[in-house]
Amino acid sequence: MTFNPNADISGGAARSGGGARTGIALGGGGGLALTIIIIIVSQVFGINLSDDTSGTSTTSDSGSAIANCDTGAQANADTVCRMKGASAAIDAYWAIEAPKLGITNYATPGFTLFSGSTSTSCGTASADTGPFYCPPDKTIFLDVGFFDQLRTEFGATAGPLAQLYVVAHEWGHSVQDDAGIFQTYPNTGATGAGSVSVRTELQADCYAGAWVGAAATTTDENGVTFLEPVTKAQVADALNAAASIGDDRIQKDSGDSVNSESWTHGSSAQRERWFTNGYQGGPKACDTFSVSTGNL
Ligand SMILES: [Zn+2]
Repeated sequence: MTFNPNADISGGAARSGGGARTGIALGGGGGLALTIIIIIVSQVFGINLSDDTSGTSTTSDSGSAIANCDTGAQANADTVCRMKGASAAIDAYWAIEAPKLGITNYATPGFTLFSGSTSTSCGTASADTGPFYCPPDKTIFLDVGFFDQLRTEFGATAGPLAQLYVVAHEWGHSVQDDAGIFQTYPNTGATGAGSVSVRTELQADCYAGAWVGAAATTTDENGVTFLEPVTKAQVADALNAAASIGDDRIQKDSGDSVNSESWTHGSSAQRERWFTNGYQGGPKACDTFSVSTGNL
């Protein structure tokens, strides 16, 4: 999946506050937590993709590099610019689609890239946390080193579309936040194949798929499409990323037996299935809360 070189990605994301909840990560926390990463953090900085300088994140040399991400061509060439392009494209998509789902209060989440670690209202984020959405901050936090981790630890290819899937999944959590899903279906910490946690994560996967399915038709303010049409190989790459962080796969790779009782994000097959449901059917196909556990 590549950006239209002429797409305008210079728009920034607005920030807003509210809510109270712990962070929601992309992959099974257990698997990620098993990884002991020893890092000497020489630099702690946040790169906020927002143009809103009143945000809490600090800027840096890399931060000003973000400000210079203006075109799809730059998004194709550089991971950080790709993140900014993703936020512009995903935000444009949800601004249109959220009201169709009855979500009238859709708000652009904050999106903070960081290196090393950064503090959030959901706790300290570091490389071994994985990307997550923090509801009290209404912000997605992502260490760009996570994409290397996807490749080296989870065996995903983590190509460009897989990277966009990661962002779109977290964005899906912000849409859920706006929709009041976290109040309607509170996460009590229960785990298992039909748990609220798994249903919440699979819906975020479905929302990511829905965006990917429509990405090549979502346009910037000049009417230029953000992305080139997606190829089958690219979709396979995103599915590969989704599958690589399925709870069963993580358990297997960690040397544990597969035990659905402790799942928090769903199996590889479930994550692929719900991504595909969204890809084919759009956000309306993403009601993971009303299907029986057996049909998840
Ligand atoms: Zn998630």
